[in-house]
Amino acid sequence: MSFKLRCLKCSKIHEDHYTLVCDNGCDSLLRAEYDRKRFNRSLGWPMFTSVKYWLPENTPIVSEPIVYKSSILNKALGLPNLYISFSGYWPEKFADTLTCSFKEYEAFSTLQRVKDTGGTSLVLASAGNTGRAFAYASKIMDVPVTIVIPRKYLFRLWVPEEAGESVKVICVDGDYLDAIKMAEQITKTSPLLRNEGGAKNTARRDGMGMVMLRAVDYIGRIPDHYFQAIGSGTGAIATWEASLRLIEDGRFGTKLPKLQLSQNSPFVPMYDAFNKNERKISTSDNDKELIDTMYANVLSNRSPCYSITGGIYDAMNKCGGNMYSVTNEEAKAAQLVFETIEKIDILPAAAVAVASLLKAINEKKVEKKDYILLNITGGGEERLKRDRKIFQL
Ligand SMILES: *Cc1c(COP(=O)(O)O)cnc(C)c1O
Ligand SMILES: [Zn+2]
Repeated sequence: MSFKLRCLKCSKIHEDHYTLVCDNGCDSLLRAEYDRKRFNRSLGWPMFTSVKYWLPENTPIVSEPIVYKSSILNKALGLPNLYISFSGYWPEKFADTLTCSFKEYEAFSTLQRVKDTGGTSLVLASAGNTGRAFAYASKIMDVPVTIVIPRKYLFRLWVPEEAGESVKVICVDGDYLDAIKMAEQITKTSPLLRNEGGAKNTARRDGMGMVMLRAVDYIGRIPDHYFQAIGSGTGAIATWEASLRLIEDGRFGTKLPKLQLSQNSPFVPMYDAFNKNERKISTSDNDKELIDTMYANVLSNRSPCYSITGGIYDAMNKCGGNMYSVTNEEAKAAQLVFETIEKIDILPAAAVAVASLLKAINEKKVEKKDYILLNITGGGEERLKRDRKIFQL
């Protein structure tokens, strides 16, 4: 085994049996501690195995985020050291994340972990992007998956290649949290079924950690700021953890990136809790109405990974940074700016992140010379549908 799992509360070390929680019952995330401490930079050559990243051994690297600097956008915003991480389809830039969001990076590492720990099949809840990623990875990895999705998001479940027999889809009449609960119930029916586990799954987080690692590979240092729109918080926690590993390596800086995280109002539970400096978060069934009005409803998780030890509350307190609340109008305006300048379509959640960067500039939360990483978590979906045939599930 190339890693062990440490409880962030009681420090107990666990061997991995697809372990999601501490044996001692702690309200804490487990974190993977890899034997290898050194980051394997690619120095320009593509590397198709997990040796470059911190991932379960043998995880295939089918796609990676691309990182680039946009001279026009950087000039327009007055930020010479702004870097963009793009997860999606964009042939001119050789971006080939065909399910068009960064969820694809967690799908392969998670299915590898299912295989490594003797599971036969994975059950997961999705608001769309995750389901697409796992349906695609399921065929390539030959691991069956069952996807539970709110019926209203079923249209988002397509794959770039014909789905195999290995994918089952179950619709619920409800929201994302209802789908999560249903997936948990299904998992309990057999010990061979694995639940994807959300942010508690170290393989998911370490898959998403590819974004920061790929960026540091390109930039050569840990950036000062990391901008992302958050729903469950998994991606931002992954970024914190990847940065800790890079600091331990020693060659890329000693400071954690400030987390500049955004939510789409009117549903902004993490923004609200953080700005009251509270570890407790409050959501209720009444939020379902708010969620229906959101432009970026993939950010609508009602049980985000916020309060638990090692979650977003801790990540913000360790890294520093800010939370932003972005309206639908602000997101759409930012999307238009980005798409016009960069000539590629982006998903609504990515537009929320762009809007938060504009706010941060206005509110002077970033300095002109700062190194900034903007995570465009999903894009190129319209472009892909123009260029290729897709298969609706
Ligand atoms: C899931 C998702 C997010 C939010 O990421 P979390 O890790 O759940 O906070 C942002 N953008 C896109 C495109 C997503 O699919
Ligand atoms: Zn513990």
